[in-house]
Order: sequence, then C-alpha cells, then structure tokens
Amino acid sequence: MNTPITMHFTIEELYASATAKAKGISNKPNVQQTINLVYLTAYVLEPLRVAMNEPIKIGSGFRCQALNKAVGGVYNSQHLKGQAVDLCIDGDLKKGKKWFDYIRKNLPFDQLIWEHNSKGSYWVHVSYVYPDFGRNRRQVIENLLKK
Ligand SMILES: [Zn+2]
Repeated sequence: MNTPITMHFTIEELYASATAKAKGISNKPNVQQTINLVYLTAYVLEPLRVAMNEPIKIGSGFRCQALNKAVGGVYNSQHLKGQAVDLCIDGDLKKGKKWFDYIRKNLPFDQLIWEHNSKGSYWVHVSYVYPDFGRNRRQVIENLLKK
C-alpha cells in the first residue's frame, strides 16, 4: 500500500521501521495517531520538503509501545503518539543543520532536537502538536546525546 497524504509523503513512510520488521512487530498507528502524523506532515515535513527542494527521509516516525521499547525510546516519547519523527541526514551534517535551522526559523514545532548517538550518527528529531490537542512549546535542544 502506498497512501499519499501530501505531495511528497505517504502515510506508510511515517511508520515504516526496519527494526519492527526484523523483530516481527506490527507497528500500525491507530486513528488518533494517524491524524497526528498527518498534521505533523502537513505543517512541518511537507513545508520543509518544499523549501529545501530535496528528499526528506524519515529515519523513525510512529512507534508502538513494543517498537519504542525495542529502540530504547523514552517511555513518554512523542513518537508513541505519532507526533514526532527523526529525519535521516545520512551523515551529511551540513544538510542536517540546514534543515534544523529552517525548521527553527520558519515552521511550527513542539520540540526540535539535534540528536546523535555514541556511534557518531546524527539526526534531527522534530515534533508537532496540532493546536486542538495541545500546545507547541517551541523547545530547541541543540545537542543531545542518545545513549
Ligand atoms: Zn525522535
């Protein structure tokens, strides 16, 4: 299945997960989680995609409880609600910083985090809460090491 939700994104790429597949976890968002993913895509990802004029690859989007546990996500992760994605930057730090700065200056968001792990892998975590469902704090974290 391939269900477009905006010009450049499908709903499937927002919950696809190699880890879920490898571990036999069915990682499917429910209706509310799907709505959150659609808002996140419409208000953040698609505008970013259009402004950057280059593909935006999702490293990790929605995570069910089992998947969140499997990848070591925090218990209250916004990934569980379909409100957060990690943008894959493929080791291109310049590109990642460009996306990070664009989101910070131009787009609505709840949390924007420049994350990396001890293996030297970097990605951009961004979350968005549709105003009917809560408040966007516009919290920016410049450098977070994920254990
Ligand atoms: Zn994340």
